Formats: sequence, structure tokens, C-alpha cells
Amino acid sequence: MVPDKMKAWVFYEPEVMKFEEVPVPEVKDDEILIRVRACGICGSDVAYYWGASPLETPDGKGPLILGHEFSGEVVKVGKIPAERNLFQVGERVTANPVQYCNACEVCYRGFVNLCENKKVLGVSTNGGFAEYVVSHYTHVYKLPPTVSFSGGAFVEPLADAVYGVKNLEVGLGQKVVVFGPGPIGLAVVALAKRSGAGKVILVGTRDYRLEIGKQLGADEVINPKEKSSPYYVEDVVKKVAELTMGKMADRAIVVTGSKEAMQLALKVSGRRSTVVYFGLPGASDVVEVPALESILWDKTIRFSWLAPFTWVEAIESIASGLVDVEKLVTHSFPLEKLLEALQVAREKRGNPLKVMVTM
Ligand SMILES: [Zn+2]
Ligand SMILES: [Zn+2]
Repeated sequence: MVPDKMKAWVFYEPEVMKFEEVPVPEVKDDEILIRVRACGICGSDVAYYWGASPLETPDGKGPLILGHEFSGEVVKVGKIPAERNLFQVGERVTANPVQYCNACEVCYRGFVNLCENKKVLGVSTNGGFAEYVVSHYTHVYKLPPTVSFSGGAFVEPLADAVYGVKNLEVGLGQKVVVFGPGPIGLAVVALAKRSGAGKVILVGTRDYRLEIGKQLGADEVINPKEKSSPYYVEDVVKKVAELTMGKMADRAIVVTGSKEAMQLALKVSGRRSTVVYFGLPGASDVVEVPALESILWDKTIRFSWLAPFTWVEAIESIASGLVDVEKLVTHSFPLEKLLEALQVAREKRGNPLKVMVTM
């Protein structure tokens, strides 16, 4: 039996989020009610909580239940998916929080990540830092038995990583530079290596993350910041030249918002290379492209946003062990300790990668 009330963290304004009893959401005909079992903390949740970024609600403000990376169990199935026999109570699922409309100009053209009417659970409507959450049924995905609830909560960031690596188009034996060893960057390392990269070079400023990168498939790791690091390299461009016998990288992907990294990616990439910008820079950041060299080297510069149609691949990548998510999920807290979990994610206390709340 589904109760009437549930515990949820309601965000009101920066640094004001309360653990409250609220009504369990109603389930419309085209929705599924999910009992949340795990919900990951994203960099954007940290940004919302401390006021670095507005929500995507009409006025940019709360009240709203945050949390867009969740998994759980089906507890109620709306009329339409029930009639179609699509979901059963008790099934383990995750949901794509980016719920596109399927009926706008860009959706008709297949670019659902750019939907003009999308709602995003945990960003523009209520999300997963609660005991229950509702999702439109067409955005709910079943989890294979080999995917844990924390693995299920990692499908959202992994689906973004899959799209980034698709845009990178890694060829067999190619040299790939990945900037930014956060949870998504490390997943990119694993996916690039298993897509056939000959050498994956990971660049980051925290050794504990670089070390996990080595476990996930990085052949070389570079720390351009910490002089005491065993991976310290003063000149990243020179090092990449050495590692590629002067040819430079075939592919570079920037999974951080760092402007220096975005700039460096253009310098480490060689002839006929592809550079993908993935991490979010500041609103006024500008990257300078060396125009003549980029033309003469026939380069491609691409961007990657969200995860159109990559959810099945992300789930299968976890289920089959291509990406070892258990190495990426380092911390979990009970739901009532969400504020502590946010602090850990923000201050990187105890060397976290993905921090989660679990129920
Ligand atoms: Zn996220
Ligand atoms: Zn649309």
C-alpha cells in the first residue's frame, strides 16, 4: 500500500532546504510512481543549493524537490502504461529526468535533448530527494538484475557520457585525451577505452581521481597542477606530443568547465582530430580557436549536451561491466543526511566521486 504522506527535502531558496512531510504525488494516467531507493548528487544540485544557479522552474525559484539521478521500485502504474502492460508493481527502474514532449519542432526532428517543452525532474518539477517520485511512463527504464540501485542512479550521468563518447567517434587505436576526472570524465575514460582507443590520456588536478582513472582504463595520467604529485607534468602539450610520437591526439574531450582545459584541448589535438566540449563553462567564458591551424589540420570541434537516446546503452554498459560504476559511487548517506552529503560533494571531503543518498 502506498501511504498518503512521504518524507522529502523541499528546496525553498539557496541554503534553505527542509526535510518535511508532504503528500505522495498523485499518479496521472500516463505516469508511474516510483519508490526511490537511490538518488545521486550532481554538481548542479550543489549549484542550486548554494545559489550558484537558478532552478528551471518558471521563476527560477523553489519550492521544489531536487534530485534528478534516481532509481527505485515501481509502486503504482498509471492507466495507460497499465493497459499496455508495460510496467508491473515491484519492478526495479530508473527514469530519464529530461522528459521531452515528442511533439515540438526539435523533437519531431529527433533532437529530443533540445526539446522546447521539456520538463526536468528535480530541476523544473519535483525530483528524487524524497521517498517517492512520479515520472512519465515513456521515460522509465527497467534495470537488469546485475544493476544495483546505486548503479541505476548512475545511469543518468552515464547516459550523458555515452552521448559524449558517441560525439567523439573514437576509432580503433586512436590516442584520446580526456580532461576532467570527475565521475562522468572517468566513465568517459572507460567508454573511450572500450570503444577501441589505443591510448587514453587522462588530465586532472586530483591524484585520487587520476588513480581511479587508471583502474578504469587510462593508460597515462597527467596532473598539471600539483607539483608534489607523481603525475605532475609542467607542460601538458609537450607531454602529449611525447606520448603520441609528435602526432598529437586524434581525439580530445573536455569533461570539466575549466576554460584552461577547453583551450588546452585545441593544443593537444592533431591533424584530422575531433575535439568535444562537454563540461559546462561559465556563461561568459569564451574559447579562442586558432583558426588557420584548425583549418589546415582539418579539425572538427563539437559540443555534447545531455543524452538523447543513449539510455539503453548506458544501462547495458553497467549491466555488462563495461563501466564499473561501483568504483565511481564512493559515498552514500541516508536520505535524512542529504545536507551532509551535499557538503561532502561540495568540499570533496574524503575524496568523493559520486555521492548518493540511499533509502
Ligand atoms: Zn546531473
Ligand atoms: Zn519537444
